[in-house]
Amino acid sequence: MKKYTLLLLIPVLLLLTACQKAADSKPQIVTTFEPMYEFTKAIVGDKVEVVNIVPANQEAHDFEPSAKDMTTLTNADVIVYNSKNLETWASSAKNKGIKIEASTPVEKIGDDPHTWVSPKSALLEVRYIAEELSKKFPDYKEEFTKNADSYIDKLKKIDQGFDQLKTAKNKTFITQHEAFAYLGRDYGLTPVAITGLDPEMEPSSATLIKLKDEMQKANLDTVYSEKNSSSKLAETLAREAGARLLPINPVEGLTDEQKKAGESYLTIMEENLRFLKETIK
Ligand SMILES: [Zn+2]
Repeated sequence: MKKYTLLLLIPVLLLLTACQKAADSKPQIVTTFEPMYEFTKAIVGDKVEVVNIVPANQEAHDFEPSAKDMTTLTNADVIVYNSKNLETWASSAKNKGIKIEASTPVEKIGDDPHTWVSPKSALLEVRYIAEELSKKFPDYKEEFTKNADSYIDKLKKIDQGFDQLKTAKNKTFITQHEAFAYLGRDYGLTPVAITGLDPEMEPSSATLIKLKDEMQKANLDTVYSEKNSSSKLAETLAREAGARLLPINPVEGLTDEQKKAGESYLTIMEENLRFLKETIK
């Protein structure tokens, strides 16, 4: 009889422990890099905890997750990442909940993962993340939708600013790495990159000479430079072509200083627009 009672007690105890655990831990959303964090945080506010993986001062391309990062990912209720062609470590992680590939609703250009660099494509991403999160947390659907709408309103203002570039005469601009194809497609611009999809790739000297000739033929007097590992290439090309340097930022990460100064995906995109207007006119 005693044995029988004990056996009955075990499942009850297990159930109690499980309930206790669930009550203790808030659901957790894990995002990959800065824009994914910003979009998700804007949607969920304080309702769900959001943790970002790629640290400040690092960019998405050359990031490798630590063992601790992998544990954070496997314990996540939701993983939000941009593209399986960029954050492979997140798209292949086996977590206990769902995964949201933010770029799903964006029509792709080959294997290029840089969808978020276009505000028009970012709009689709924010809407999609909000819809998927509302399925996962139906109690917050109304609030998530409202929050997404207010972030999208801000994005739309920037999108309208970029739309004005469509009527410019000069639509070509030289950039460091191939991060601006979606921006080009969505706003009728022609970005020409010194290096490929990954900023670590090195162009040949023949490529640099060809670019210099093209710039001179097209009367382009500006090279848009990113603050990353390949900025020396932009400096070299600008020097060779007698061109000036202007900054552009594909928002692949934000430094601590930028965050402290209140910078965000939105403010950086506004700045990109302001600098692009200097040559696209
Ligand atoms: Zn990139």
